[in-house]
Amino acid sequence: MSEHVFSKNYPILNKITEKYDIVIGIEVHCQLASKSKMFSRSKNAYGDAPNSNIDPTCLALPGALPVVNEECIDLALRMGLAVGSTIQKVSVFARKNYFYPDLPKGYQITQYDKPLCFGGSLTLQNKKVVRIERIQLEEDAGKNIHVGTASLVDYNRAGVGLIEIVSCPDMSSPEEASEYLKKLHSYVVNLDISDGDLDRGNFRADANVSLKPKGSSTFGQRCEIKNVNSFKYLEKAIAYEVERQHEIIENGGSISMETRGYDSDKNETYSLRTKENAKDYRYFPEPDLPPLIISNERIERIRSILPELPETKTSRFIETYHLPEYDAKVICASKVNSTYFEKLVSQLKGTCDAKFLANFFMTEVMRAIKIYADTKGISPDELNEVPVSLEHCVSLLKLQANGTISGRIGKEIFEEMISSGKSPNLIVKEKNLIQISDDISIHEICLKVLNENQSQLNDYFQGKEKLFGFFVGQAMKISGGKLNPGKLNERMKEMIESQRNKG
Ligand code: ADP
Ligand code: MG
Repeated sequence: MSEHVFSKNYPILNKITEKYDIVIGIEVHCQLASKSKMFSRSKNAYGDAPNSNIDPTCLALPGALPVVNEECIDLALRMGLAVGSTIQKVSVFARKNYFYPDLPKGYQITQYDKPLCFGGSLTLQNKKVVRIERIQLEEDAGKNIHVGTASLVDYNRAGVGLIEIVSCPDMSSPEEASEYLKKLHSYVVNLDISDGDLDRGNFRADANVSLKPKGSSTFGQRCEIKNVNSFKYLEKAIAYEVERQHEIIENGGSISMETRGYDSDKNETYSLRTKENAKDYRYFPEPDLPPLIISNERIERIRSILPELPETKTSRFIETYHLPEYDAKVICASKVNSTYFEKLVSQLKGTCDAKFLANFFMTEVMRAIKIYADTKGISPDELNEVPVSLEHCVSLLKLQANGTISGRIGKEIFEEMISSGKSPNLIVKEKNLIQISDDISIHEICLKVLNENQSQLNDYFQGKEKLFGFFVGQAMKISGGKLNPGKLNERMKEMIESQRNKG
């Protein structure tokens, strides 16, 4: 019996999974962050003038020959080792033949039956192991740009290195699929394999989806949803596709193997073409490149310099910074966030402890990140940097730690710092927000509050002790939130008691 998968955000799928198993396999194309292209020496750069990073090889000029870029191989090896793949000592490049204007050679150099890596896996939170079938090297195509009735081609991306990471069909809900994709993304970004920029298409996923009768050991026919470039859309596209296939099957129809696109505005998948077969591509070994031979020494060298994996980093955060597991996981889920957090910790060493900084990060900073990402219409995971000045955060926390401002004013300044970009010091000066800690001022304000609220004071003496918060609140209100809370509490208590004794 296969387990029932609870799909929290897609209740309708729970009904479907009473009778059917959802089967999902994911292919990811990830652009390698190498300095030059996969088989030639043009720059691998985004945003340059069209057709400025080109050369005879990536333009397929007669007589130009490919040469393997060793940096790309090292990056792909890094990925293989990180997910526990078996590295093939001998792998072979292959030609995948098809015609498209963005592919001037008429074929893509990829790998076919002898890829660089076989096997490996990633483990999801529910302990499910998603097996990786293979990781292969290939080259990207150029970009077609349609202007009015004309079509233009930019070959800057043609020949840039990619790895394709193919999972086994081991996922059984949209949430598992997006968790797998997020995890893979955090790997490539943490390991500096790719910038993982989803908006620029540097990390794109194809989801293969099928249904089978619950518990059956035979897979159903799959559809492939191409190039989904957001975690949320991947989930939604799969959920839609499951419902669509379910309806067809329940009405006695059958699924035809096809390649589909996803329209995020309509939240629908739509047919692009019938799925091509391997034989349509006439794969054959690339005659211009020798087999790729990987030595044991090379594997060991890459293994020894493998950057920290997200899981390892999480454990280190728990151990070194004494953070609760939850905090460590939240912060280490993104390299951008964990790097920023570590900078905060190191710059505020001896001033604020790590747990305090983790709280600050997970509330204030992450809220600012979320708001910023929302205005750009993307998910916070997709940002390449924390949109909050580190320098300003450090000065704010220092002002708070040395008592110049209260925590409450700190929150206010943080908001203003984000919206205006001004430094906390300037904001404090302009708005006169320095914390009031001197005994005389605090005494005067307490006195005023007690004098003006005699009836509440009597109630307090009658036993309504909760009113203490009211007196403190009034004092804070009068001072515009600037009183030192510790001192205020202490002084207020003393003065109330002395009035009790007098009365
Ligand atoms: P292709 O290039 O034809 O799409 P690949 O072997 O590259 O073939 O990728 C197949 C992907 O589809 C893999 O991720 C695999 O796990 C997944 N897959 C294979 N069969 C099914 C199925 N019946 N249902 C869902 N996913 C499947
Ligand atoms: Mg495919």
